[in-house]
Amino acid sequence: MSSAVTESKSDTLRALPGDDVRQILWRFADRYDLQMLVQSVRGVARGPVARLVAQGGRNTHEWTPDKNALLQAFDESGITAVFMNPSQGGFIDGPKNLALALTAFELAWVDAGAATGSLAGCLALSPIHERGTPQQRDYYMSRCAPAQPCEERKPWRGAFCLTEPIPYVGVETGMLGGKVRVAEWNEGQEPLLQVEKRGRFITNMGFANFVTAAVESDDPRLKGTCMVVLEATDPGIFDRGTPTRKLVHQLSSTRDPIFSLRVPASRIIGGYSVKDGVIVPRYSHGEIIEAVFRRTRVTVGIMTTAKLLSAIEPVIRYHRSRFRGGSIATPGSPRYELGLQLKQDVVHRLVDVWATGEASASLGFEAARVFDQLDPLEKQKAAILEGRGITGGSALMKAMRQVSKDAVEFLHGKRPELSGDVLVQYALLDSVANVLCPACKLWNTGQGGRMMREAVSLMGGYGITEDCPGFLGHKWMDAQLEATYEGPEAVQRRQLSVTMTDELFLAQFRNWIREMRLIANDRPGTGACALATAMQMWLWTLNHLQKATDADGSKLYQGSRQGVTFPLADALCWLLAARCQILDLLELERKGPENPTLAEGLPGLVAFLSDLCHVHSAHAAGETGRICAELVFGYNRHPAWDTEGCAACYQADELEPMEALIPGIAALARGYADVIEHDGSHEPKAGPCVRFTGLDQFTRLRARMDGCLTGSGLAKDRAAEALTRVMIPEALDYPA
Ligand SMILES: Cc1cc2nc3c(=O)[nH]c(=O)nc-3n(C[C@H](O)[C@H](O)[C@H](O)COP(=O)(O)OP(=O)(O)OC[C@H]3O[C@@H](n4cnc5c(N)ncnc54)[C@H](O)[C@@H]3O)c2cc1C
Repeated sequence: MSSAVTESKSDTLRALPGDDVRQILWRFADRYDLQMLVQSVRGVARGPVARLVAQGGRNTHEWTPDKNALLQAFDESGITAVFMNPSQGGFIDGPKNLALALTAFELAWVDAGAATGSLAGCLALSPIHERGTPQQRDYYMSRCAPAQPCEERKPWRGAFCLTEPIPYVGVETGMLGGKVRVAEWNEGQEPLLQVEKRGRFITNMGFANFVTAAVESDDPRLKGTCMVVLEATDPGIFDRGTPTRKLVHQLSSTRDPIFSLRVPASRIIGGYSVKDGVIVPRYSHGEIIEAVFRRTRVTVGIMTTAKLLSAIEPVIRYHRSRFRGGSIATPGSPRYELGLQLKQDVVHRLVDVWATGEASASLGFEAARVFDQLDPLEKQKAAILEGRGITGGSALMKAMRQVSKDAVEFLHGKRPELSGDVLVQYALLDSVANVLCPACKLWNTGQGGRMMREAVSLMGGYGITEDCPGFLGHKWMDAQLEATYEGPEAVQRRQLSVTMTDELFLAQFRNWIREMRLIANDRPGTGACALATAMQMWLWTLNHLQKATDADGSKLYQGSRQGVTFPLADALCWLLAARCQILDLLELERKGPENPTLAEGLPGLVAFLSDLCHVHSAHAAGETGRICAELVFGYNRHPAWDTEGCAACYQADELEPMEALIPGIAALARGYADVIEHDGSHEPKAGPCVRFTGLDQFTRLRARMDGCLTGSGLAKDRAAEALTRVMIPEALDYPA
């Protein structure tokens, strides 16, 4: 171990957080199965995967034998089987979202292409897992499970095929070009279907034995859309297509396939019924991909998280050793021991990278855990409703609307008898999951990608070479793919702009503000105070925008107005990440003392992570303030621009002459006015030309929030100082 400055303060960070710490923060300290999984995946990531990257395996987009060998490593280490139940050849019972998130984290710590390659197999199986018939599930899961030592078989690999050549499916998943027709339907026999589908950018396509493909009916005897399973041995064309000339994720195989195949109707995922001579698939492709992506997107978000946290150690090592060995740096001198860490900016920027990594891990793993809780509740909910004869359509929507109403009443303390009600529990958690999933995909990959650039820049020229320790340059580029596939940022923002306005979510969000206020009372050093005020400001702004109109009288909060809804979704992500980060810290503070190996270094670690929370909450509050202010003020027309320039920026004594021209402007500029209406011709006007509703409330909230930033700079200074003292291993544990 090396430490730049050997004397240590008692309450400072001693070493980088190890497994013991992560297990508590991410809540798997009591899951021995997951701890073993992490070790096993790490062995593959920092072994064969890292060696392949170091040997230049990423320099081609072709699927090479070396890359193919990773599949076997995935099988042997248990990575492939994570997704399966024990009865299907897996080893984890129950929900597997956290397990998959941890797997993605460990692989992406070294190379996210390897993570994607392994997870694409799960993605291919997901439609079958989420909505397949029991027979379909057993058939494909057991074939994809790695062979047991006594078995002589090669496991099947799958690919998920939704995206199509332009102009069809991309962001707009409803624009299907893939078609399905009834090819043969003999009396009393299973219909045969003819499937025509072309894919674009399909992962695992170089070797997949089967594909789960989204198609639309081109035949009056088949209704709507569906997903079908296509096998490589089906009669017809199973053309893997040309490899995608990617710049990123080179350890996964991506191609543009072409399929023209005849398959039995039993391949329709979820099955079908026959009504009046028409095949009616049980699930549309939209219903299936919604159920799939809401889980798999979380693991993608976690990949970028891993990159950020993996960057800390190489950057510290690089900075410390940057000037060592020069003639002017003698051992023991600050220049020799600290190198570039003597410069405040480099440690400050690394604190920002680290704080982002922690916050995105907290958000991502919380999302994964929420889905682990939700999975059994979802099954129970379906069983209860089925028992009442409700299986889908408008009856289901009506029933769930009532459950939502009950849940809001329960949250308001009006219906305590509902505390054990499964449907209410489901509705509460579902509304949170509907926000956390897109938030984690959007923020972890988008903001994470931006912060990866910071990490790369901290390595100077080294950062953008193949030799950069920790492969940071590759990781920066890779982050952009994580922001893109399984729905780019626009998709996540669009989803959030709907789910974040759900009353059930907002009722819980109000409780979270109260929760943060209480935390701020006991632990002001976490930044919970700034966060609570920022959350309040976000909620105020949402309410305001939902009612307000712009200077031309058009509604502000509406689907087509992405300039309003999207930034507000971005702001929410910052807040959610900061909240999860603080809650994880409190968990560590509570549970850490129970672990004897942690006890000694715990106060320093908690103090450091608390400073990171503070730094991140301050950024989150700043971002929220900027976004909300732009939205609240940006859609008004300024009363003075047509006359004398920007009156609101005038000093108070300069405002009085303006007042004569525009009555009310002085009060407006000082922030006391609620509404001034003016048409810019120096005459008060009745119409909605200028409308600053609730301005006073907002500016007071904003001023209060700025005050809440107190101490965040000091927290950053302390965290930066800790970076100059923390011990790191002598060398990275995977090759450069
Ligand atoms: C390496 C790689 C692997 C992939 N693996 C798979 C796979 O295994 N299976 C699969 O099915 N797909 C896969 N994809 C496809 C990927 O999911 C799509 O590229 C992605 O969903 C975006 O679709 P698109 O590229 O057609 O973007 P487009 O639809 O062309 O969108 C381009 C951009 O336009 C903007 N935009 C588009 N629509 C809107 C809107 N409504 N509102 C606001 N802005 C909008 C956004 O900024 C968006 O990023 C992969 C892609 C790559 C690069």
